[in-house]
Amino acid sequence: MSTFQAPKGTYDLIPPHSATYLAVREAIAAPLRNSGYGYIETPGFENVELFARGVGESTDIVTKEMYAFETKGGDRLALRPEGTASVLRAALEANLHKAGNLPVKLWYSGSYYRYERPQKGRYRHFSQVGAEAIGAEDPALDAELIILADQSYRALGLRNFRILLNSLGDQECRPVYRAALQDFLRGLDLDEDTRRRVDINPLRVLDDKREAVQKQLAGAPLLRDYLCEACKAYHEQVRELLTAAGVAFEDDEKLVRGLDYYTRTTFEFVHDGLGSQSAVGGGGRYDGLSEMIGGPALPSVGWALGVDRTVLALEAEGITLDIPAATAVYAVPLGEEARRVLFRAVTELRRAGVATDFAYGGKGLKNAMKSANRSGARLALVAGERDLAEGVVQLKDLTSGEQTAVALDAVVDEARRALG
Ligand code: ATP
Ligand code: MG
Repeated sequence: MSTFQAPKGTYDLIPPHSATYLAVREAIAAPLRNSGYGYIETPGFENVELFARGVGESTDIVTKEMYAFETKGGDRLALRPEGTASVLRAALEANLHKAGNLPVKLWYSGSYYRYERPQKGRYRHFSQVGAEAIGAEDPALDAELIILADQSYRALGLRNFRILLNSLGDQECRPVYRAALQDFLRGLDLDEDTRRRVDINPLRVLDDKREAVQKQLAGAPLLRDYLCEACKAYHEQVRELLTAAGVAFEDDEKLVRGLDYYTRTTFEFVHDGLGSQSAVGGGGRYDGLSEMIGGPALPSVGWALGVDRTVLALEAEGITLDIPAATAVYAVPLGEEARRVLFRAVTELRRAGVATDFAYGGKGLKNAMKSANRSGARLALVAGERDLAEGVVQLKDLTSGEQTAVALDAVVDEARRALG
């Protein structure tokens, strides 16, 4: 193993590609910021108990994918595998739910860790932007979140994604369905692991991606037929609000998602250009989660979109984001005196908000001009002894090659004018 190799299942974000990641995070966050969601940041690790209780003891995330460890002081911690449990924990700890302004609406952006089999679109360290609306039961809130995710994907130019929608029922109707499903599943030919799952969390068996299992599930009872009147009405309202907003979705009765805490509305954003890692984001309502982690009843809804897979989706659709060049002006000094004078001009330009860089390391003219071109700058600022003697610098348009002498004390204004 080379020292210069990122750990398995991880990768580095490197310029210029990294600019796309920043732009994607920003594009997902913008509609949230504009809709009453405040930014929250929580630690990269939590007490392992939080995820065990919040995400669910029987989920793959907790049983197989979690980076759990014991500290030197004996604390049992885990790198966060997802955001919702942490955000809810933080909101409860800060008593945000008692401030009298429900729902508490929060958004976050960060790194998450899961010990998975690495492949394209599936990493051990990945990045999500998420949103949670805590403490309100209102179909308009579920609809709002789906509409905002749709809006950010459209703003990025994405078109080949679909929204899958389902209702998982509530404490009243889900247990009845659960029992019926267990009856059905116990009649199938399943391996021992899956049979255990039938006992603990039968709905998750519907989520099994193996074809041998999927084939047997053809005649499985559907939750839709078991939903109570309240859940049906709630779901119908979510559907109507989405339709009224012009957001297309597909009803997917088998959509259950990998986390235990979901109730009622559940949804997934899938992209058709990503092969088997097609889910770019997902979320839903989690009315029971607060109580599961020891808090009061706080019906809530949220989602998380995967930044890595969203970037892959952009690539799949051949979309290049319009990212302005990092450098607008590149200064090339010829000689010691010019270095001092141009370095000052660079500082002034930067303070005036013009993105400017400088040919460091005493490069010759030819090399320095190469660097200027590579930087993506539109203008080069070149000065030698003769220019300085005349109190000017040369402002060169790197696209047209045109060059004009401008007075040293007018550099900022002239550069701004030339940049338009
Ligand atoms: P999958 O079914 O593909 O494993 P998931 O249901 O585990 O996805 P969520 O927990 O809902 O995913 O996380 C939301 C989003 O985070 C996913 O839709 C995906 O874009 C992203 N994501 C989840 N796990 C990974 C991973 N290991 N690598 C990259 N992105 C991931
Ligand atoms: Mg997963």
